[in-house]
Amino acid sequence: MMAVRDRVGVYPGTFDPMTLGHLDIIRRGAHLVDRLVIGVTTNPSKSPMFTVAERLRMVTREIAAMPSISVVEFDSLLMDFAEREGASLILRGLRAVADFEYEYQMAGMNQQLNDRIETVFLMADVSLQPIASKLVKEIARYGGAIEKFVTPGVAADVAERLARK
Ligand code: ADP
Repeated sequence: MMAVRDRVGVYPGTFDPMTLGHLDIIRRGAHLVDRLVIGVTTNPSKSPMFTVAERLRMVTREIAAMPSISVVEFDSLLMDFAEREGASLILRGLRAVADFEYEYQMAGMNQQLNDRIETVFLMADVSLQPIASKLVKEIARYGGAIEKFVTPGVAADVAERLARK
């Protein structure tokens, strides 16, 4: 009998904080693979609102009901992370033109680093396309309502973080 290998995908991101856009991409991506590994990056250059440990807990909590998805922290080259997880696909979400240039360049360079792993771009539901973690934080800092963009759990996390400041 032929050996059957699971198709594994990784979905890397900062998730500071996790939004409904991320969750939609995860739901869509999960259909394409047998196993999805969400990689939470440390990404100190973005001076995140939540520590990597907090983001790991947040993402783990939000995907708790979804089968065949795991969450890990990673602090290495994306290609090394994908290789380590035995992934053949890297999933990325694409929002309009703003994301395109960066994603295009990153996918191109990653292809040169490892040609056996494909980057696959997914589009979130049209209503969720404009959502960005950065804007969620900005809206919350000015006292706006973020409930349309994140889960109730994440909205509470953000409120708690801002209250402590
Ligand atoms: P990164 O720092 O890697 O950009 P993010 O947490 O900002 O991490 O995003 C992770 C991935 O999710 C990226 O591919 C990003 O384009 C995608 N993404 C984020 N928000 C949305 C959205 N609303 N619709 C589609 N893709 C999204």
